[in-house]
Amino acid sequence: MDTRKSENQEIEQKRRSFTLSCFICNSSFEIDDYGSFYYCKKCGGVLEIRITKSNDLSSLGDERRLSTGAKTLSRLHSSRGVWKYSDLIPVWHETNVVSMPEGETPLVECRNLARALGFKSLYVKFEGLNPTGSFKDRGMTVGVSKANELGFKKLICASTGNTSASLAAYSAKANLKCIVLIPKGKIALGKVAQAVAYGAEIFQVEGNFDECLRMATEIAEQGREILLLNSVNPFRIEGQKTAAFEITEQLGFVPDNVILPVGNGGNISSLWKGFKEINQLAFIETVKDIEQRERSPRMIGIQAEGASPIARAFRSGAKSIEIEKEPHTDASAINIGSPVNWAKALGAIYESHGYSDSVSDYEIFEAQRLLASSEGLFVEPASATPIAYLRNISSRNSQESQSRDQYERLKDSTIVCVATGNGLKDPNTVMRDLDQNQIKVVSADAKSLEKSLFVSA
Ligand SMILES: [Zn+2]
Repeated sequence: MDTRKSENQEIEQKRRSFTLSCFICNSSFEIDDYGSFYYCKKCGGVLEIRITKSNDLSSLGDERRLSTGAKTLSRLHSSRGVWKYSDLIPVWHETNVVSMPEGETPLVECRNLARALGFKSLYVKFEGLNPTGSFKDRGMTVGVSKANELGFKKLICASTGNTSASLAAYSAKANLKCIVLIPKGKIALGKVAQAVAYGAEIFQVEGNFDECLRMATEIAEQGREILLLNSVNPFRIEGQKTAAFEITEQLGFVPDNVILPVGNGGNISSLWKGFKEINQLAFIETVKDIEQRERSPRMIGIQAEGASPIARAFRSGAKSIEIEKEPHTDASAINIGSPVNWAKALGAIYESHGYSDSVSDYEIFEAQRLLASSEGLFVEPASATPIAYLRNISSRNSQESQSRDQYERLKDSTIVCVATGNGLKDPNTVMRDLDQNQIKVVSADAKSLEKSLFVSA
């Protein structure tokens, strides 16, 4: 059999392994028609990529199975990070792949913090070490690769900052035009600077993120010219799910609890999808035995109090959210009142027996400093919401029985907090609350420094 024929057969086999389906009514659509519509044509629901049962990878033979060891599959150059799992990602031709590469971020064990807060086993998955400094790169490498494959030349997104930085970078690398809509005055300076440097065409909208997203969607829906790359785009979710694969490989097992910041709801649903695929496909060596395979983590989503439609829905036991028209939090990455992936996010929370809660801005900034000063991890404010939550429930002053219950359930478990973005993107929020005693002025001689050291000791 000649090589081209066998390659075509492989691609055909891969195509048959995926469907583009409605998350709500389960209708299916042709994957490569994506971009001529963004929501289910029958019910208007959000779309997702599903891996069919026939793709148990067993037909590929042992040497082509994904695994943690030498049998790792990938014929791509960058057979690391996200594309290590290329068999589980619906991009057909590797020539379309745009990669930096991304993923393969560290899972840091936080012993100081665990001890201080009274938890046995606490890890932070530091997604701020992706190429543009946030988890968005996992989704963008797949989203922009698929845009290439579908033949789009112009890409658009609405953004609270990280999405625009990431899309701008991947568009630059792919030679595609990038248009970003950002809410005027509401995104961190470092993130705008990134989009400017990567050469995006930037529009500041006199409105909030939700209004930016509505505009971007309307423009994209007008025809097949511009592809929408917000997290409603299911290809992005396919990239982001790889964080669950990495966490499991890094730990050697599936963690008990995964805690994430929740804004638009894309990432919590992505990781949950990843953990379900680990169960479904048993492709990670260390979790192939049945007992391990039946494990799945509880997904815990934390929001900022001023933008918490998902936490409020969960607390009232609702199956849908009430939109917040004027969300406000200084953790700008999660300042979203109308999360487009609310159905998937609530689905992940309920299905995993997890829950959702919220924390105040004050608690977020305290937690940001605590994580930096105790573990050396400087994350952006939104990324500190899981730590703020853990700090709240472990507080000895906490008299609320619900908090005590939650603490009791978590304290001896393995907890992974996902830190979605790098603190360097948003230095202003740290400097704004600076304790003036932390930076002192001395004259340029050792004597005055010595004197100052002695005084502060
Ligand atoms: Zn539908």
